[in-house]
Amino acid sequence: MGKIIKGTCTDISSEGKGVVKYVKDIIFCDGLFPGETADIEIMYHRAGVYFGKVKKLHNLSPDRIEPKCKVCTICGGCQYQQLSYRAQLIYKRKRVKDALERIGHLKDADVLPCIGMDNPYYYRNKIQVPFGKDKKGNVVYGFFKENSHDIIPIKKCYIENEKAASILWDIKELIKQMKIPVYNEDSGRGILRYVLIRTSYHYEDLMVVLVTTELNFPGQRNFVDALIKKHPEITTVVENVNSRHTNVILGNKEKILYGKGYIQDSILGLTFNISASSFYQVNPKQVEILYKTALDLIDFHHNEVVLDAYSGVGTIGLIASQNAKKVYSVEINTDAHKNAIENAKRNNIENIEFICGDAGEYISSFVGDLDVVIMDPPRKGSDEKFLSTLINKKIKKIIYVSCDPETLARDIKFLSPYYSLTYIQPIDNFPMTAHVETVCLLTRK
Ligand code: SAH
Repeated sequence: MGKIIKGTCTDISSEGKGVVKYVKDIIFCDGLFPGETADIEIMYHRAGVYFGKVKKLHNLSPDRIEPKCKVCTICGGCQYQQLSYRAQLIYKRKRVKDALERIGHLKDADVLPCIGMDNPYYYRNKIQVPFGKDKKGNVVYGFFKENSHDIIPIKKCYIENEKAASILWDIKELIKQMKIPVYNEDSGRGILRYVLIRTSYHYEDLMVVLVTTELNFPGQRNFVDALIKKHPEITTVVENVNSRHTNVILGNKEKILYGKGYIQDSILGLTFNISASSFYQVNPKQVEILYKTALDLIDFHHNEVVLDAYSGVGTIGLIASQNAKKVYSVEINTDAHKNAIENAKRNNIENIEFICGDAGEYISSFVGDLDVVIMDPPRKGSDEKFLSTLINKKIKKIIYVSCDPETLARDIKFLSPYYSLTYIQPIDNFPMTAHVETVCLLTRK
């Protein structure tokens, strides 16, 4: 380790790292793009590959641009800030195609061009940042430096809704004034761990979640009052208690400190309640394209029975229910499940049933016919129980909405003896990062 080599980037990995072949080895390198040659310092070896850092660039890719964010090379959140947006979309389509060919064993997968955004900045409706102290003892917030508990301070994030920056700054100032102890990742001491901010695109709602180590921290009332006074745009403040020593941000205990404890937002004309811990799509503009693309594949005639699996707060299922006979939505997270029931009520939708539980368990015990299954699993993808039930129940049409091309390809391979992949549309819900959403249609052979 520490050795410096000269290498040329030939590809981009699924995590958005430059791929350099060196003798018989592969080196993954952040911020290095195909065609570029650089001096690379070898940092560490993991799972059969080396990870390196660019020391000196010898030539620049024509796709390289000056990033808006000056810490993007160390933050790790935006692997593609230094790439033109046009090139980002090309690499995302390629990631989907490569995964389907390499993992899914599908030759010549007909992947459509990735649908991008007109303005690919400031799109995220959720930001979560750790709070802590720097080496001099100053309160800081930002992001963890790779493989460490050191926080790199950040004043402004170029992919996050612009309202969040000044709120975070003032939270930091209030914490200093009121001497609220921030958490120390190494000792496990302190109170405030993370702050999460959720903004609404269509409503004037804004939620601040304070993740703390103990409920009712001293000075809490004064802190919340002062924060609301400074930022009347905040409509709700929630305290979430996480005393465990893990990387998971949210704990299980919650207390509403101000407002209703949730925000509302809408997608394709329906309004949804979103709690602190519920999953909700992070890109409010692109999600409409994503859902419309997925639901257009159903060709509704108002007589379909639909299963919406991995349903979050019920968004896809509720939108589908307007054109279907009946929708069943299954979701494992209890808060999201509760939100989904409220969401059906507030949108006056009655032809939908929400089930809280494991999607695989539920579908395998389902009695009756299903015309379409829409599945939108988390990054780790679906599981054999769910997929083999789709096969056994001879479901005619599957719409797979995926946020991870590699697990999508793995699951499609499992289904491929029985299903043809007839439509593949990548959509860019995560500009500046290597992530991509994909909508696929699988039809029974
Ligand atoms: N379709 C929703 C949510 C997608 S995210 C939307 O578009 O907003 C994936 C969801 O799957 C999360 O809400 C997660 O809690 C849920 N989930 C994860 N594992 C699950 C399982 N085994 N069974 C059911 N739901 C699960």
